[in-house]
Amino acid sequence: MVRTFCCWLALVAVGLALASPVAGAARISVLIIDGQNNHGWAATTPVIKEMLEKTGRFTVDVATTPPKPDPKKPMTDEQKKAHQEAWAKFRPDFSKYQAVFCNYNDYGQGESWPEEVQKAFEKYMKDGGGLVVYHAANNAFVNTHWTEWHKMVGLLWGKPDFGVHVAMDDAGKIIRQPKGEGPGAGHGPQHPYEIVIRVKDHPITQGMPEKFMHVKDELYQGQRGPAENMTILATAFASPEFKGTGLHEPMAFTVTYGKGRVFVCMLGHDASSTSDAACTAFLTRGTEWVATGKVTIPLPADLK
Ligand code: ZN
Repeated sequence: MVRTFCCWLALVAVGLALASPVAGAARISVLIIDGQNNHGWAATTPVIKEMLEKTGRFTVDVATTPPKPDPKKPMTDEQKKAHQEAWAKFRPDFSKYQAVFCNYNDYGQGESWPEEVQKAFEKYMKDGGGLVVYHAANNAFVNTHWTEWHKMVGLLWGKPDFGVHVAMDDAGKIIRQPKGEGPGAGHGPQHPYEIVIRVKDHPITQGMPEKFMHVKDELYQGQRGPAENMTILATAFASPEFKGTGLHEPMAFTVTYGKGRVFVCMLGHDASSTSDAACTAFLTRGTEWVATGKVTIPLPADLK
């Protein structure tokens, strides 16, 4: 009997070893949230999932919310009921994950997360969770009263009276434009632009060239919010030639929220700009950092 039990234990041990291809390194559990967005979430989520999984550092689940109601096709009572029931079932167990990657945006007739989900997410973050805010996810919940989300994201797609705007001048000095003063959120026509690293010894940026190019993409400018406990890791110059503010706008920054870590990446309007070396470096390393506080993922060879 004892012998059978020992054999069984040995088999279990071998099974576990085979199930963990990265010897000695437990994979980081990530939850991508999508389902509503004024951007092509259905095209970018698979790109992000694959990008994370390719590093060998992550296991990735996706939680997709009910779809955004179409204002041109009013729902029947039956459809409304089904939609509400689907939302009632949307209760991600955040505690199972070391990082939550947000590819969700209620901007333009989308829906907010249920209050119960918001509260659970706040608790998750305050207790030491990790959040990655990807491109248009910083447009999310701006026009709602979810002020804790506003604190987590720091700078959001808001009008000038939504909050302060933070950028840098030509000398690299941080400028804080108060509520109501200066530009509101926007972007000019898409173009390739240079990223400038502002903090070289942060785990996410360590080893990155001081300057490198990002492919054609939107350059977010004039972002607004509480901007508390934030560190600007990288900027891009919003050139007036492309209807820019003439300021060096934050492209990658961190926010501390409770015991939680947040990384915000402004790059990645579509699948093509999301998969270039610059965006890949920020998203993979940023996700590892929010989850663990450290970065072991190497830089893409073509980052220059
Ligand atoms: Zn966009």
